[in-house]
Amino acid sequence: MDLSNRQEKIIEIVKASGPITGENIAENLNLSRATLRPDLAILTMAGFLDARPRVGYFYTGKTGSELLTEAIKKYKVSEYQSVPVVVKEDASVYDAITTMFLEDIGTLFVVNSHACLTGVLSRKDLLRASIGNQDLNNIPVHIIMTRMPNITVCRRNDLLVDAAKKLIGKQIDGLPVVKDTEDGLQMVGRITKTTITKVFVELIMDENIR
Ligand code: ADP
Repeated sequence: MDLSNRQEKIIEIVKASGPITGENIAENLNLSRATLRPDLAILTMAGFLDARPRVGYFYTGKTGSELLTEAIKKYKVSEYQSVPVVVKEDASVYDAITTMFLEDIGTLFVVNSHACLTGVLSRKDLLRASIGNQDLNNIPVHIIMTRMPNITVCRRNDLLVDAAKKLIGKQIDGLPVVKDTEDGLQMVGRITKTTITKVFVELIMDENIR
């Protein structure tokens, strides 16, 4: 997060003289309290300063990168998951390939008649099935998919960083986001390497510390 000159000055003042009231910071800078209000709000929201009623502002002692790390560690899967793309167990390999192209995605999830997760199909799973002279219309995806219980999943409330660790640890491109139901694991979303890359870029471009 880039701070303005004025915000940097405020931090210096609070570091040197905190706890200090907004009024006193304003006096120090020869500005009105109203002019400073947005800066103080930003610095407090971003975690550089903390404010206590009737005491004033004090410096939290956290650097920009510490605050950024703290913020990233709080990101939840639910904030970044995208919609799942699924095929039925009895869909053919041909249909799955078509869906993968039409939906422009790299991992398909396979569901049963209760819309519960039973398998995963990667690009290479489908390529492997396509080698040879088999009729891809006659091979159902449940024959070639990676199946439960060997599927690595995540849940809406999981931390995004833990989902990212699973992608790396298992060397896979996507994770299904699931909800536990009586019938099994219902598909509610997906987290992919693209999701993580987008967050990375967003963090750098946006400097949006939450
Ligand atoms: P690709 O095979 O195209 O490189 P992946 O690395 O994602 O794509 O998949 C590697 C293997 O892991 C495939 O056989 C695939 O079925 C399986 N796989 C993919 N995602 C998962 C997952 N979430 N849980 C378990 N296995 C998975």
